[in-house]
Amino acid sequence: MNFTVMITTDLINYIKSFNWSRKVTQLHIHHTWKPDHSDYNGTNGIALQRSMKSYHVSAKGWKDIAQHLTLLPDGKWVTGRDFNTTPASITGWNEGAFCIEMLGNFDIGCNRFEGEQAEAMFSFCTFFAEYMKLDVKNDVKFHRDSPTAGKTCPGSSIDKEWFMNEINKRIENTALPAQNEEAWKFQAIDALASDGLINNPEEWKSKINDPMPVWTAMIILNRIYEKLSHK
Ligand SMILES: [Zn+2]
Repeated sequence: MNFTVMITTDLINYIKSFNWSRKVTQLHIHHTWKPDHSDYNGTNGIALQRSMKSYHVSAKGWKDIAQHLTLLPDGKWVTGRDFNTTPASITGWNEGAFCIEMLGNFDIGCNRFEGEQAEAMFSFCTFFAEYMKLDVKNDVKFHRDSPTAGKTCPGSSIDKEWFMNEINKRIENTALPAQNEEAWKFQAIDALASDGLINNPEEWKSKINDPMPVWTAMIILNRIYEKLSHK
């Protein structure tokens, strides 16, 4: 895969149209540590990705760059390893993993995880967890969650509970409109039932999005007609 720089919305569209040949069951989160924010000049994302690849291939002996994506400090993304290929992410946990490296050193006292970089990360993770049907609590992992990691990765300044709460908040917010829509439909059922225009409101609620046969619609219309004409 050629390295490509993308903004978050383009990356999300790319992932939606990507032809997945493997099942992704985990999302892994790292920081690069080195390079860090001071190595990024706003335009050298691909050059940094190339140098990470050559380190991973030459010094580490891996077949490709380790990660599927690198998140730059300005919130842009660089594609890495083929998304259909297992990453070199966390020892023993790589099968089914999708691996993100956030460019920076987020150990306490070094770079800060904030602003456009943090916002892009939370937006993408929210989309990705929902799209891949991941359980945020169990399937989104920090490198340091592994007992054999021996690292602070993705950095001691990033509290995992805070990070996961930010994702969960966004997941709840994207779910709200759908819930409100259903609630509105239920209110209409309750109103029709209390006026005697339909029976068994709970049964109707259980089929809220099912199609309705013509005869049912006609019976309800006829009841409304009778009611309005005081028969
Ligand atoms: Zn790591």
